[in-house]
Amino acid sequence: MNVPEIFGSMVFNEEVMEARLPKVTYKSLKKTIQEGSPLELEVANVVANAMKDWALEKGATHFTHWFQPLNGLTAEKHDSFIQPAGNSRVIMEFSGKELVKGEVDGSSFPSGGLRATFEARGYTAWDPTSYAFIKDGSLYIPTAFCSYTGESLDKKTPLLRSMEVLNGQAMRILRLFGNTSAKRVVTTVGPEQEYFLIDKKLWEQRKDLIFTGRTLFGSMPPKGQEMDDHYYGSIKPRIADFMADLDAELWKLGILSKTKHNEVAPAQHEMAPIFTTTNLSADQNQLTMQIMKQVALKHGLYCLLAEKPFAGVNGSGKHNNWSMSTDDGFNLLEPGETPRENAQFLLFLMAVIQAVDKHQDLLRDSVASAGNDHRLGANEAPPAIISMFIGDELQAVLDSIENGTPYSPVSKEKMQIGVSVLPGIPKDTTDRNRTSPFAFTGNKFEFRSLGSSLSISGPNVVLNTIVAETLDEFASKLEGSKDLNADLQSLIKETIKNHKKIIFNGNGYDDEWVKEAEKRGLMNLRTLPDAMEHYLDSKNVEMFTKYGVYTETEMKSHHEIKLEKYSKTLNIEVNTMLDMIYQDILPAAYAYMNTVAESAAKVQAIVAGAKCSAQVNVLKKVSEFADLLDKEAEKLEKLHEAAEKIENVAEQARHYVDKVIPQMENARKIADSIEPLLGEKFKPYPSYADLLFRV
Ligand code: ADP
Ligand code: MG
Repeated sequence: MNVPEIFGSMVFNEEVMEARLPKVTYKSLKKTIQEGSPLELEVANVVANAMKDWALEKGATHFTHWFQPLNGLTAEKHDSFIQPAGNSRVIMEFSGKELVKGEVDGSSFPSGGLRATFEARGYTAWDPTSYAFIKDGSLYIPTAFCSYTGESLDKKTPLLRSMEVLNGQAMRILRLFGNTSAKRVVTTVGPEQEYFLIDKKLWEQRKDLIFTGRTLFGSMPPKGQEMDDHYYGSIKPRIADFMADLDAELWKLGILSKTKHNEVAPAQHEMAPIFTTTNLSADQNQLTMQIMKQVALKHGLYCLLAEKPFAGVNGSGKHNNWSMSTDDGFNLLEPGETPRENAQFLLFLMAVIQAVDKHQDLLRDSVASAGNDHRLGANEAPPAIISMFIGDELQAVLDSIENGTPYSPVSKEKMQIGVSVLPGIPKDTTDRNRTSPFAFTGNKFEFRSLGSSLSISGPNVVLNTIVAETLDEFASKLEGSKDLNADLQSLIKETIKNHKKIIFNGNGYDDEWVKEAEKRGLMNLRTLPDAMEHYLDSKNVEMFTKYGVYTETEMKSHHEIKLEKYSKTLNIEVNTMLDMIYQDILPAAYAYMNTVAESAAKVQAIVAGAKCSAQVNVLKKVSEFADLLDKEAEKLEKLHEAAEKIENVAEQARHYVDKVIPQMENARKIADSIEPLLGEKFKPYPSYADLLFRV
């Protein structure tokens, strides 16, 4: 495989644009991409035509406006390029108008009451900052999705808005420090993607995996992940084939797939791309998830992206590595060489610290989903409490600033006290802390609470906006300062004092931390309904509306959509559970008991006086559990019925989390006790052992 040749071969990227567009067109398109200036229709016409010619050469017949509705997935409607040309002939055409704007009957996408059904039309608008590409015979055009009244109905629009807001505020700080060369600040993200691969034939035999993406039943196999022998272990040939194919497909689409390895749990793996601009990264991560699923099927595998597919086994997350960088490539979270650079670094660092402390609720909420609730707070993923890890070296720097004491570095050889008032910052020397939800890892922050299936847009909208808000506050305090150095010192000191409670460098899995966090006054929002209670708090609404990232109407609709989706997910899970109990588990138990009873009867007919106590024992146990399961299922049914009658979305979600979920757990416990008692041939579905070890 000639990687440089195939890389980006299906993408209408800068190189292709430059080669195929007339110089003037290319120049004005570039201006639009870099500065967000509006695109003239004549320019769009030329671009569209070049795109079409290129797409036809690559074998495409259709084009689609590709967008990201609020359900967190992507949507597409395909139109062919054909135009009647008389004499029953067709020609292939694509106009600037078709490129720039599309119409979508959006009535079936979630809008949380944003659009009355009588004007259910939405439109899609080309996002020229993300490249068009070809997949499955169609030219994909990344677009934003809005209502005709201008509200965003998607995940891309607010993300672009939040990047713009951060750009504006970060530039003010850079100017303060005398930077006159940078023209823009962009946020960058590299999302590490975890996933499970199981055999497709086994997947087909489990209704829970088919309908809910996760197992609702299943007892632990004799061997789990306790040996840690899977992590970074050698990759099985079948999986290696899948990974090679996945890389090739991603590379064709210009996705910088870089790292692949086995994860902690059996059958769990990870792919990490090289970071890029946030909105491109968000588009590419959505594509990556889709392509993982497609490629898996080709290999007779099924790719599970649910956050917690197996109870008792590590779940899958997505680490959102985030930083800010100037257009000339300077990473603003990179500790510098000079005291001036370090002062600037510290100010950006403090901005992130204040932002995370002030908006723990929003960050927690941005990663909340029915699936991720099973993961956060279990002893594997980051806890539901948002805290930050900055490492011993940086901690020592902050301590010295706060206390006004000389800085004594943790590792002697790295020490470099700056000549000015602010100390030199040594490179990251401390061990990575894997338990922290929000960790500084040398030149970026790693937000680890995202679930594996989540669109990264939501969390990044929050990150960009909350950091912009703090940068705004800092810039306003420092602009016009007569003694920048002194004012900077006191601002940093004050910020440390006010927000150091968010910093926790210890073990986030420890029970002690939960108590300690409570003492510090940190929020512990355990579930989605808990987190959503704060979403519409005035500090949040004020911030998002102030910067024009969300309108209040948009926020209310997100609130409704999210709670509604939560209840819908649980509704499907309960239905599936009951179906499996009545259709699969109980019948399997009866069939097994029947065979055991028959065997005992036959033995006794032949062997006079045989006790058959083994059979009797099994019959006793299984029938007792079957009775219990039937009772628990009935209770679950009643609670579920009550939940479905509740009209208020918040109350309904509350009922699900407080009443229904605990009852689902009760039912599961009994079912999982039956499973190991049944003979292998009577198992109602492939076991955890089959799923995790037979790939
Ligand atoms: P880990 O040890 O967590 O696996 P790595 O060092 O392999 O971390 O990097 C993880 C991710 O961080 C990669 O996707 C990488 O591209 C990304 N990354 C590195 N630098 C930046 C940055 N400045 N901004 C955003 N992401 C970055
Ligand atoms: Mg990581």
